[in-house]
Order: sequence, then structure tokens, then C-alpha cells
Amino acid sequence: MTSTNAQLFERAQRVIPGGVNSPVRAFRAVGGTPRFIARAQGPYIFDAEGTRYIDYIGSWGPMILGHGHPAVLDAVQKAVRDGFSFGAPTEREIELAEEILKLVPSMDQVRLVSSGTEAAMSALRLARGATGRDKIVKFEGCYHGHADALLVKAGSGLATFGNPTSAGVPEDVVKHTVVLEYNNVAQLEEAFALHGDGLACVMIEAICGNMNFVRASVPFMTRLRELCSKHGVLLVFDEVMTGFRVALGGAQSLYAKLIPGFAPDISVFGKVIGGGMPLAAFGGRRAVMEQLAPLGPVYQAGTLSGNPVATACGLATLREIQKPGFFEALTASTRQLVDGLNAAAQAAGVPMVTDSEGGMFGFFFASALPQNYTEVLATDKARFNHFFHAMLDRGVYLAPALYEAGFVSAAHRPDDLAATATAAAQALRQ
Ligand SMILES: *Cc1c(COP(=O)(O)O)cnc(C)c1O
Repeated sequence: MTSTNAQLFERAQRVIPGGVNSPVRAFRAVGGTPRFIARAQGPYIFDAEGTRYIDYIGSWGPMILGHGHPAVLDAVQKAVRDGFSFGAPTEREIELAEEILKLVPSMDQVRLVSSGTEAAMSALRLARGATGRDKIVKFEGCYHGHADALLVKAGSGLATFGNPTSAGVPEDVVKHTVVLEYNNVAQLEEAFALHGDGLACVMIEAICGNMNFVRASVPFMTRLRELCSKHGVLLVFDEVMTGFRVALGGAQSLYAKLIPGFAPDISVFGKVIGGGMPLAAFGGRRAVMEQLAPLGPVYQAGTLSGNPVATACGLATLREIQKPGFFEALTASTRQLVDGLNAAAQAAGVPMVTDSEGGMFGFFFASALPQNYTEVLATDKARFNHFFHAMLDRGVYLAPALYEAGFVSAAHRPDDLAATATAAAQALRQ
């Protein structure tokens, strides 16, 4: 007898806390039994019961080419035969670094690590080491992995610092973290007036995919860049989700088109950069990056950093997404998806708003797009949860929480997107 999702979930809960190795997979936000995935191909994932789903999570972003892309498979299989890990430098790390730097002109150098968390944590240490300052700013609703200093929510006022969002994070560690409201220019100015000369960095998701999908406004980003430059504060773009996803050059390339001379000081990447293997990176201008060990005083290291199999996977992925027309086609597919969702909502008389960029999208049950985390919390969560399950029942796998963006891959064909719109129309009528 084959195992069912429910049987596997029960068994998993005995040996793994909550039955999962990353909390959102447990379906706690939406209720129900998580699907245990047995395999994936193109735009589809198949669970332990053999049920097929159109996949709009794509491993939370990495699978921009869809699952099992032949060029990526080839590169990974060849790399595996040459050896899994050497703990010594390889030529492929140089190739990947060169490829990344070619696509992200704000960086002169890049260092490879194994997860987005590790990259953001390292970028933070680098910013502090390079400036000799301790305080940092983050924004409510942005997620930068689970390093202690970044697991923080707003305190009672701007003069106070943040409160830990997790047990096990000492007050002492987060007392240097100022948490501000996203897209709030007045509060940003106030915070810089109070703390500006003591800040090492401001870390931001410029298109935030961890409160569904919320863009930083151009006036907000313009003012943020000005204030950082004025006070010698490093602007850190967390592009773990948006990098090589919303555009070939990431979110920063979009702001650079709208704000003359715009560039962040440090950038953080993950997800797409590894094509589904554990790989992430952070980079910036040479003078900042040369503060890192072995050249400078900021320590940072990793046994599996620049892993030869992961770099093969990432490199093959980055080469595919540079092919002519790739992002135009991906953008068109994502638009077809959100247009389908909008049409379904309109037909059903359900208030829904959507946004998308490149291969990333968001939708809210609300009458206007939220601009910050408080507004995201005010959208209709009960309706989202019903919709999630109604779509899952119809073979469409959306993120199991309303705080997550969705992803379209190059493997999603027009008929997959049309089938999704049909499912949405039925689900919303229900
Ligand atoms: C996913 C994510 C991270 C954390 O990356 P992991 O690889 O899960 O550690 C950090 N920042 C952003 C913006 C992310 O979306």
C-alpha cells in the first residue's frame, strides 16, 4: 500500500518537530494536511498519492525554469560525477561570480554561501564591520532569514528598539535593531534624525515578497537612498527573492530605471541563484567586500560555500534565464495568470487586487493594494484560506499563507495558466 499524505504527516510529526523542516510547509496558516511531494516535472508537482498540482511556489522561488530543466539536469549530473565537495577553490565558483557580477553592476565582488539566511546575516556583519557602527534598520513585514538580529518587530516607539519575534533571541541582540513601517517616508526621516549617524545599514526587500507582494514606492526609495548616503549608512538590498526573478538585474535594476544613479551598497541573493540547490551570495563594491576575511577584519566562512554541485546548478540556471526573450515571456505568463485571477474575481463579485513583476506575483482579497504590513494584515484572511483550499482541491498549489508571494516559471504553458483561471473562477463562485 502506498503512503498517503495524512499517513506521512502523522509519521513525520513523530520524528520532526511539526512534521516539517521549515514552518510554513506545515499548512498551519490555512489548516489541513500538507502534501508530501514525491516528484516534480516542468510546472507540476506530484504528491505521495500521485495527485498532480500546477505549482506556483516553485520551491519558494528558485525553480524559475520549472522542474527538471534538461540543461540544468545535465550540468548537475556532470558535476556530481566530478565530486560532491572539495573544501578548496574551484574554477566554477569564479565563473558563477563573473556571471552574477555581469548581471548586477552595483557589485564588484561577491561571496558565495549556502542559504539566504546566511547571506543576510553575513551582509549585516559586513555592514557593521565596514562602518564601525552597531545599529541597523529593518522594516516591518520584510523577512531576511532567521539570524537573531533580524527576528525583530517594532518596539513601542522610534527611540526604543525592536522586540524579538522569536523565543531564544536575547533582548541584548535586538537592542540595536530599529524597526520601521514600510513606505512611511515621515517615519524614515524621523528615525534618521534620531539615529542616522549611528546606523551601519538599512536592510530592505525593495519588492517585498514576505508580506505577499508589496512594492517600495519610488519616493520612499529615493528618500531612503538620499538619507543613507547623507549619513554614511550602507543600503542593503535583500534580493534573495527578487534577484534574477523580477528582472534579470533584480529589483535594483527596476529602481535604477526610475531613480537616476540609483544603486544599493550591498546586495543579498539566494533562491534563483542556486536553481534549487543550497546556494546564496552577498556582494558589493570592492572597498566594502575587501573588509571580509582573509583580506579584512570581518570574519565569514563556510565548509560547503561555493559547493561544486550547487554552483553547477546555479550557473546553468543563470545561463538559461539570459536567453533572448526569456523575461519577456515569463512576464507575459505571469500577467496572463493575474489577469485570469482578476477576471475570475470580477465575475464572482469578489474584491481582489493583484500585482506582479517578472515571474513574481501577489493577490489580496481587498479593494486596494496594501502599502505596509498593517494593511496586509487588514486584508481578508478567511477568504484567502477558503480560496487556497478550493484551489488545492482543483489541482492548483498556491502558497499556504497569505503572507507569501507566488511564482510562475518558464515551464508554465498558456493552457496551465488558463486552467488556473478556470479553477479560480469556480473557487471564487464557491
Ligand atoms: C527566503 C528569503 C530569505 C532566507 O533565505 P533562506 O535560504 O530560506 O535562508 C531571506 N530574505 C528573503 C527576502 C527571502 O525571501
